[in-house]
Amino acid sequence: MKLLIIGGVAGGAAAAARARRLKEDAEIIMIDRGEFISFANCGLPYYAGNVIPDRKALFLQTPEGFRKRFRIDVRTSHNALSIDRKKKSVTIEDLNSRKVYEETYDYLILSPGAEPFLLDIPGAGSSFVHTARTIPDIDRIKSELDSGRVKKAVVIGAGYIGLEMAENLSIRGIETHVVEKLGQILPVLDKEMAAHFQRLIRSSGISIHCSEQVTAIKEIPGKGCAVHTASGKKLTADIVIMSIGVRPETALAEKAGLKTGRSGIAVDPRMRTSDEFIFAVGDAAEVAFPVTGRRLSLPLAGPAAKQARVAADTIFGLSNEYKGTYGTSIVKISSHAAAVTGASERVLKSENIPYKKIYIFPPHHASYYPGAAQMAIKLLYSPDGGNVLGAQVIGQEGTDKRADLFSAAVKHRLTVKDLAEMELCYAPPFGSAKDPVNMAGMVAQNEMQGNESFIHWEDLTGTELLLDVRTEKENKMSPVPEAINIPVDELRERLAEIPEGRTLAVFCAVGVRAHIACRMLVQKGFKASNISGGFISFLNLREASGHNQAGTTFA
Ligand SMILES: Cc1cc2nc3c(=O)[nH]c(=O)nc-3n(C[C@H](O)[C@H](O)[C@H](O)COP(=O)(O)OP(=O)(O)OC[C@H]3O[C@@H](n4cnc5c(N)ncnc54)[C@H](O)[C@@H]3O)c2cc1C
Repeated sequence: MKLLIIGGVAGGAAAAARARRLKEDAEIIMIDRGEFISFANCGLPYYAGNVIPDRKALFLQTPEGFRKRFRIDVRTSHNALSIDRKKKSVTIEDLNSRKVYEETYDYLILSPGAEPFLLDIPGAGSSFVHTARTIPDIDRIKSELDSGRVKKAVVIGAGYIGLEMAENLSIRGIETHVVEKLGQILPVLDKEMAAHFQRLIRSSGISIHCSEQVTAIKEIPGKGCAVHTASGKKLTADIVIMSIGVRPETALAEKAGLKTGRSGIAVDPRMRTSDEFIFAVGDAAEVAFPVTGRRLSLPLAGPAAKQARVAADTIFGLSNEYKGTYGTSIVKISSHAAAVTGASERVLKSENIPYKKIYIFPPHHASYYPGAAQMAIKLLYSPDGGNVLGAQVIGQEGTDKRADLFSAAVKHRLTVKDLAEMELCYAPPFGSAKDPVNMAGMVAQNEMQGNESFIHWEDLTGTELLLDVRTEKENKMSPVPEAINIPVDELRERLAEIPEGRTLAVFCAVGVRAHIACRMLVQKGFKASNISGGFISFLNLREASGHNQAGTTFA
């Protein structure tokens, strides 16, 4: 059996190692057009920031180490030019000797990854502009930073990699600006959650410019360059990192006549392409996104590794299937993290999938134990049955743990009731007797049971009476237009102040006191809904809709 693998980093190297573990006498060849294999792409931003000080730490394996341990024929600086499916061979160019040769295969695994998009604007090719995908990319960036010449940086694109690069530039003391075309950072988050995260990371020292489209990068002789935006902004910089997303490398597969989908190489659940002898894994493959039923390619390392295992298992006769990617991912900026899993509200809306949502803002562990930090959780679930469809979690410690639990819930089709019932670790330094994940489930379950009705700021019609049940002090410090204020602890005595016949939209700071107030009001015969997430949700939505919003309607 001869297995040829194209691409020697996340997916390729994982497939090669698994293949060897399964079949000691298989002939396994792994080629990569780069000089390195099995390096930690995910660690590149942190190497730039000196958080990972030792370059060697980025190499999980060297070609020599890989050969020794797995007896794999590793060929770096070898570029696959084309695939002849009839002959079952690949034409390869040795980039050092320029020799072109053919290599046959019994099975072929494609793991060519995804290449960074580049803006097609004047100056995009200038020497100031860098992308961060490979070791040579980061070596160039690092040597610029280490030279001491870089005082100001502009990062184009506020996705995961852009923000990670920005953080690492900033911690090196470089004045860092991030320019983002969309009206929000991190498009995987819904806009109000992105606004929440952006507010938290304001103190990180990174300046973020949303709704700004870069139109040109112009050299300023002897003084670096200037990044120009459509609105007329001009940001000077000594280095520009372009991080506007990636495009799956499908050219080789397409040229070979393999079926491709909307966003990558089409594969079945065993990672087999339209050719039974060719498999595709990683960023280049298009897999199921089970929440919506769509197929898409999500550039994440975890899915690449798991798909590689499935491909190798299938080739060597084990039964294994890749069930889909849920987009579970996380980014850290300063001491804050933002994580997502499953579908966002934006995706559910665009796919016409019915959903309900709630927001909670609980402490990440027992509030009385020192260091409790507020988390923000948005939970999306189906209106009938309460299946968890997606979640977004923002916080400090423990953000990953909660997002991972929600991820398991989405994948295994758990319901909000299951979340409420989950038995989770608890001691004061780690969680609460009702962990934030339990709380999210309980809040949604209250709604599913008809025990509580929720409303959202953007759904207010203007006819509701807004009732603020925070303290007078809180109300004065952060007022909401048009709301009347009766603190929850005075509500029983002051019910007569509430006009009869009005529908009440009740809020507090985060929703807990409003829940108590709503239960009281409903049992007294009022029609009352809790505005989910209370004042923090108001703030998030106001910031997401533009800072000058004066009223309470956000349509
Ligand atoms: C800076 C950065 C940070 C990241 N951070 C995270 C993170 O924190 N979490 C996360 O989940 N994911 C992260 N990712 C994404 C993750 O690294 C990718 O999803 C993963 O590496 C994909 O694996 P892959 O095998 O598909 O592609 P890659 O790992 O990119 O490997 C593809 C390899 O194929 C080679 N190749 C392509 N075409 C050919 C050809 N024709 N011939 C020979 N060789 C070829 C390329 O040179 C490349 O080395 C990050 C990526 C980057 C760049």
